[in-house]
Order: sequence, then C-alpha cells, then structure tokens
Amino acid sequence: MRIPLIAGNWKMNTTVDEAVRLMKEMLPGLDAIDNIEKLVCPPFVSLHSMHEILKDSSVKLGAQNLHYMEKGAYTGEISPIMLAGICEYVIIGHSERRQYFGDTNEVVNKKIQAAFDAGLKPILCIGESLEENETGKTKEVVTGQLRQSLAGIDYPGSFVIAYEPVWAIGTGKAATGMQANNTIGLVRRTIADLWSAGSGDDVRILYGGSVTAANTIEFLSQPDIDGALVGGASLKPDEFVSIARQTAEII
Ligand code: PEP
Repeated sequence: MRIPLIAGNWKMNTTVDEAVRLMKEMLPGLDAIDNIEKLVCPPFVSLHSMHEILKDSSVKLGAQNLHYMEKGAYTGEISPIMLAGICEYVIIGHSERRQYFGDTNEVVNKKIQAAFDAGLKPILCIGESLEENETGKTKEVVTGQLRQSLAGIDYPGSFVIAYEPVWAIGTGKAATGMQANNTIGLVRRTIADLWSAGSGDDVRILYGGSVTAANTIEFLSQPDIDGALVGGASLKPDEFVSIARQTAEII
C-alpha cells in the first residue's frame, strides 16, 4: 500500500515572516487531513521556524536541496547533517537545480547517497525538456536520469520519485493524466529492473508540473500516480489544502 504524498515546493519565495504566516494559515486545514502524507519544503532560512510550528502536527518538513559533503570549505552550501533532525525529506535534482546550478545526474547521485547517509528521505526529481518531449526522447531521458542518479545505490526500503516534465513546470501547461501515468508506469518498471520487482511496486511516484486544485483528480485518479509535487499552488493556502483534501478523498 503506497501512502499518497502531497508535497509543496515553495522554491525561492517567502521571507521568514511570510513563511511563518503562510504556514500558520494552511496548517489547520492540512493537519485535519488523514490518510495521506503532507509535506512543505520552504527555503532554508525558514526551516528552523517551520520545525517549531510543525513539531506537534502531522505536516512534514523538507528542504529543497543539499550539498553532498558533510562539512568543509563549501561557502554558501548546506550539508545533510545540518538538515537531519530538522527535516524528514529533501528534494534532489529539481529541474531548476539541473538547469541553473549544474546539478548533473552524477551530482544528483552523490546527493541522494548523502541524504540517505544522514537519515533524510530524498525526493528524486526527473523529467524531460520540451525539445526532448517533442523529439520523442522522453523514455530515453527519464530512464537515463533514473539509472545514472541511482547508480551504485542499494534499494533503501522505500523511495520517492517526482516525475516533472520540465515543459509543465510553472507554465500552466500540465501534462494529461494519461501522459503522466504512462511515463510514471515506465519509471516504475525501470525501478523494478534496477532494484527488484517489489521495489517497483513500493516506490512512490509523484507527478509535478502545474498541478492545481482543478486538475488534482485527473492526476490522482491514475493508478501509478501516488501524489504531487506542487510549486506555485503550494503558496496559496486554500488551493494547497484543497489539493491535499481531494487526494485524501480519492484514495
Ligand atoms: C515544481 O516546482 O516542482 C513545480 C511542479 O512547480 P509548478 O507546480 O508551479 O509547476
């Protein structure tokens, strides 16, 4: 039984004060929703305040990135051991990190291993660009990202992947439920091949890319989709709560 996960990626939005206000606004609604996991991933500087606000709630906390080294001369970076104890999850390999900050599959691989070593749960993001989609390369790109990002990593017992077609992120142009389900089915089969048949069944795979309250059911009613990684709509309390509530109702 895969427990659905609705995760909010706040990206580089909100000051600490704004983050606290936003969280306090959505917390009662989110906390009241059972049967699914709810997760928010605010900017690093707000994690400590969020940890305090969420500590007696059912809402979990995640970071948006980490460095793969434990400590040292890496000015401006945040290490896995700094996040452990504050966060449960960490987003790794988001397409914006891949596009603007040089997070190659090799770097992503190191970050995933480092997250596991620190006891954090990584959410591995994969997805094809518009050009790759239009030239029929989606399967090749997505399976390549998976194999390279997970090379040498043993199945950890549970794992979360977010399939986020780059052309659907922040564009308002979501994939269709069927398109997303087909690629996510392929991701599941690749995981089964890479690790084991059981892991393919167990791994939770989220869809991400312009998810809103209006299209949640389209994605969450698909058999292989276990939740959503939500960007823009996760900054709107009513909308994010509605996405989580609809998910809990449909399972
Ligand atoms: C994301 O940031 O991972 C994302 C999917 O963004 P949006 O929902 O805004 O498309």
